[in-house]
Amino acid sequence: MKKAIIIGAGMGGLATALRLRHLGFEVVVLEKQAQPGGRSNVIQEDGYRVDTGPTILVMKNTFEELYRSIGQDFEQRLKLVQLDPNYRIYYHDGTSLDLFSNMARLAQEVEKVAPGSAQRLFRFIGESAKKYELGMDFVDRNYARITDLANPEAGWRLLRTSAHQNLYRQVARFFNFNDKLAKAFSFHSMFLGLSPFDALAMYSLITYADLALGMWYPKGGIYSIVEDMVSLALGMGIEIRTQAPVEQICVENGRVQGVALASGERLGADLVISNADLPYTYRKLLAPQFRKAYSDHRLGRMHYACSGFLMYLGVDRIYPHLRHQSLYFAEDYKANLDAIFKYKTLPEDPSFHLSVPTVTDPSLAPAGHSLIYVLAPMPNLDAKLDWETAAPLVREKLLNRLEKIIAPDLRRHIVWERQYIPPDWERDINAPLGTAFGSLSQGFFQSAYFRPHNKSYEVEGLYFVGQGTYPGIGMPMVMISSRLVTERIVKEWKLSSLLS
Ligand SMILES: Cc1cc2nc3c(=O)[nH]c(=O)nc-3n(C[C@H](O)[C@H](O)[C@H](O)COP(=O)(O)OP(=O)(O)OC[C@H]3O[C@@H](n4cnc5c(N)ncnc54)[C@H](O)[C@@H]3O)c2cc1C
Repeated sequence: MKKAIIIGAGMGGLATALRLRHLGFEVVVLEKQAQPGGRSNVIQEDGYRVDTGPTILVMKNTFEELYRSIGQDFEQRLKLVQLDPNYRIYYHDGTSLDLFSNMARLAQEVEKVAPGSAQRLFRFIGESAKKYELGMDFVDRNYARITDLANPEAGWRLLRTSAHQNLYRQVARFFNFNDKLAKAFSFHSMFLGLSPFDALAMYSLITYADLALGMWYPKGGIYSIVEDMVSLALGMGIEIRTQAPVEQICVENGRVQGVALASGERLGADLVISNADLPYTYRKLLAPQFRKAYSDHRLGRMHYACSGFLMYLGVDRIYPHLRHQSLYFAEDYKANLDAIFKYKTLPEDPSFHLSVPTVTDPSLAPAGHSLIYVLAPMPNLDAKLDWETAAPLVREKLLNRLEKIIAPDLRRHIVWERQYIPPDWERDINAPLGTAFGSLSQGFFQSAYFRPHNKSYEVEGLYFVGQGTYPGIGMPMVMISSRLVTERIVKEWKLSSLLS
């Protein structure tokens, strides 16, 4: 039996482990942390259970595909609830807008903000649908050479949908330059660690996926998916070793031999698949002579995504006016994003994502309590901020705003609190520059063919999976990444006979 070692038990590592085991490999997953999940993790304490990373599940079809591929049923194993509205948007002036998946209700909402906008909304959704279809052509494939990108039909459609234009400007034009609507329909690129002021209009495809394919919540939170994947893995005979950091990928005669752990132990394997951040894997786990294409110089010149400040609060109140998912947009949204991406300073009035999962699932907190998750995008560690002093400042700013949105005496009701700040990602999961959603930002020249490929061309038997390779950042992309790398392994190892 061929043996595969997977470095990292993030969602991509776990998904690949399941797929390879199903194909007949012996699989060992080595995880640095005490529990699997990587960026998708959980804190369970004092009766609270909070997802520390992702809370928004879209494109659930990508999870369904994974489960189907190993003979399981995602919907049957996880209790999923559709959220509608997907989000409530709060603006600085105290007004709000609900982004419903139900198009009639969404049209009513945009009409409230700017009468006559419903028609513009439907045109925007129609154009975004075309971008989604076009984008998926580029997302859903392995790349070998640059000509794989050269699809004249796709190029023509790219121009016709103006997907190459600037995202914010294009969305603003759709909505007749109404600032509130432009913000509400362009922020989604932030999930890729990209400012909508810098992103390609192509990324309206995420807005489309979000609104048209729906947003889902698994009972128990996103970490229930990780728990379910782990339970399937153990049942299938996959070995998952936690607190087992890998220190080196061992190579001989151009072939991968296995890995060396920080403990000094060596494990042999026919294949190594790294789910650890890709720039980190190249820089720290592979000796320079085996990564001439990814020298320290080149890795240093790549564009890294933003980080985030996370605050998790347990409060002894229930606030019936809250939605499960919300966003707050600063009045000067551009200044907020420029602070994060351009000037690398603390934003004056941070925009943030607010999630109150107890709205849907009270079991996540003691009876009568709420769980509040706040994620404010922040500059990555390139900014050289002193987070010891910055964290309390950011906390105060966020609480001031939350008291306007939730309740003026919110501070008095906080009975449990945890934080996660940019240096924590670097320390805990080896995320370069403490990048939160994923390490490499997803501009044109770090997407599709131009994103680091899911195999090493210099070391035979070494592959990559997860947000650092293509398609990119976010749980659905990582699910697709696990399929793409498995397809590549099957093709290169001539395992098609095992693929019945
Ligand atoms: C705060 C936050 C909010 C997010 N929100 C969303 C959202 O709402 N929706 C969404 O779809 N996505 C969201 N994302 C993004 C999503 O979580 C990630 O893109 C995705 O989970 C990355 O998965 P991955 O498979 O690439 O592995 P990762 O989660 O990056 O895991 C990599 C694993 O490798 C391990 N590792 C690293 N080095 C070593 C080593 N030397 N030895 C052994 N193990 C090692 C790490 O400990 C880690 O467990 C969010 C991310 C964050 C942080």
